[in-house]
Amino acid sequence: MSPTSEAARSYLVRQQTLFGDQLILGEAAQSAGQPSSEVDASQAKELAAFDREIRDCQECPLGATRTNFVFGVGNPAADLVLVGEAPGRQEDLKGEPFVGQAGKLLDKMLAAIDLSRQEVYILNVLKCRPPENRDPRPAEVDQCRPYLNRQLSIIRPRLIVALGRVAAKTLLKVEDSLKNMRGRVFNYEGIELMATYHPAALLRNSGFKPNAWVDFQAIRDRYREPAGSPPVEGPRAAGN
Ligand code: URA
Repeated sequence: MSPTSEAARSYLVRQQTLFGDQLILGEAAQSAGQPSSEVDASQAKELAAFDREIRDCQECPLGATRTNFVFGVGNPAADLVLVGEAPGRQEDLKGEPFVGQAGKLLDKMLAAIDLSRQEVYILNVLKCRPPENRDPRPAEVDQCRPYLNRQLSIIRPRLIVALGRVAAKTLLKVEDSLKNMRGRVFNYEGIELMATYHPAALLRNSGFKPNAWVDFQAIRDRYREPAGSPPVEGPRAAGN
C-alpha cells in the first residue's frame, strides 16, 4: 500500500472507531486552514488571576467534598471553548477537566477535526465534583454560573461548544432537549454556540456516534469560518 493510501486507511479506521460505521465523508478528510488563536498574555494573566480569586470557593457544599477545584485548561485566547458538565473522579483528583475516559474520547474527537487540547479551552459548568458523579443541582449551577460567564468573557472565543444538555441549558437558559438543540447555531452573549453530545453519553451509547460526527463536522466548519460571517445553516434561536 502506498503511503497515501495507508494514511487514508488509518484515517478511516480512526473515524470509524470514534464515530461508528456510518461514516459521512466529505471535506472531513481535507485539511483546511484554521483560525489562529494567538496566546494573549493579558488574557492569560486575567484568567490566572481569576483562578486564584475563586479556587478556594466554599459557596456551596461541594467545596467541602472536592479534592481539587477544577478551573479549566487550554489556550486562554482560544477561538473555541468546550463546556462540559462537572468534574468526575479523575478530574477531581488531577484538578483538570476531561482527563478520564470521557476526556480521552474528547481528545480523539478533537483530533478528528484537527484540533488539540492545547489549541482550545476546556472547562465545566461546575468547578467541583458532585459526590458519586450525581447530576449537578440547580442551586450548584446557579452558584457556579457567574464563574463560567466570567471565564467566557475573559477568553472571548468565537465559538462555544456545549457538551451535553446540562452545559447547553445552563448557557442558553432554556429547558430544551439536546435533540432539539443539536444542529443549530445559538448566540450566547454575542458568541456563537453549538450543542452536541457529552462524550460520556457516547461511551454509554455508541449509537449516538454517527450523529456526533455530523455535529463535529459542523463545529469544524463553523470554527473555520472567517469571523463575522453569517450562519452557514440552521436557525439562530431568537433572543438567545
Ligand atoms: N465530564 C464532564 O462533564 N467534565 C469533566 O471534566 C469530566 C467528565
